[in-house]
Amino acid sequence: MRKVAVLAISLAGMMAMGAGKPDDPLTRPIAPDSAKRWLAPQPPVRLHGQTYLVGFGGLNVALIHTSAGLILIDGAVPQAVEDIEVKIRQLGFSIKQVKLILSTEPHFDHAGGIAALARDSGATVIASAPAAAILRQGGGDPEDPQAGWLERFPGVTKLRAVRDGERVRLGDVAVTAHGTPGHTLGSMSWSWKSCEGKDCRTIVFAASLNPIAADGWRFADPAHRRFVDAFRTSFARVKAMPCDMLIASHPRDSDADRLARLAKTSTPHPFADPAACRDYATRAEAALEKTLQE
Ligand SMILES: [Zn+2]
Repeated sequence: MRKVAVLAISLAGMMAMGAGKPDDPLTRPIAPDSAKRWLAPQPPVRLHGQTYLVGFGGLNVALIHTSAGLILIDGAVPQAVEDIEVKIRQLGFSIKQVKLILSTEPHFDHAGGIAALARDSGATVIASAPAAAILRQGGGDPEDPQAGWLERFPGVTKLRAVRDGERVRLGDVAVTAHGTPGHTLGSMSWSWKSCEGKDCRTIVFAASLNPIAADGWRFADPAHRRFVDAFRTSFARVKAMPCDMLIASHPRDSDADRLARLAKTSTPHPFADPAACRDYATRAEAALEKTLQE
């Protein structure tokens, strides 16, 4: 009897501390109000071949199944990690199979969960050299256009920097790194071939090309010229990329509709759109020109 009573009290104490779970510094919520919008529920789905989506209505996270384990692209916010790992399990895999985590940009909304995902999997995190430096310190880049409002996030330890154009190999899959700076100077997009039998498509996971800055920081400022130059080079690159299907780090407005159609049929494939990357860059380019004129 006594033992039961003690157990009941300690359980109640734990529940009072929050959901009965011990505090985990790597999954503490960041910006919970904005994150609620990004984390709109989305079931895990096979996009094409060995490529899956394990992210959310407002944040994409991709999973590639190779012959030597899994590759994850981006990690959302820390509070999303448990959900991402559940989705990986629902697809029949385990977080322990993740060997590489590729990062598109060192901002908390796409990289906040990476430290926890890397710890839980043992994976190596891969990013551009400038992004790797910021991932290591968990954000806080004073030169970032959004420095004025960005949140810090858990720093990543096991990192490897790759160069623009480098191919990252795991088993039978090679992912190409495409430097697409502008939104951050370390932003990187990733592309790979995904096959269903002989039906192979080039899939691009594109970093954000959003020309957004905190109050008072202006792209038109001559001191910020290198961001504008970087953006213009990136727009041209993304427009010219081989790209059969686009996964943008923040899903496009039409993605929800595409996913609904994909749940019914993959012929024709709702995500198959040879103009997707070109349109994505063209829209970002128009946004930058508008910002420069204002
Ligand atoms: Zn960002």
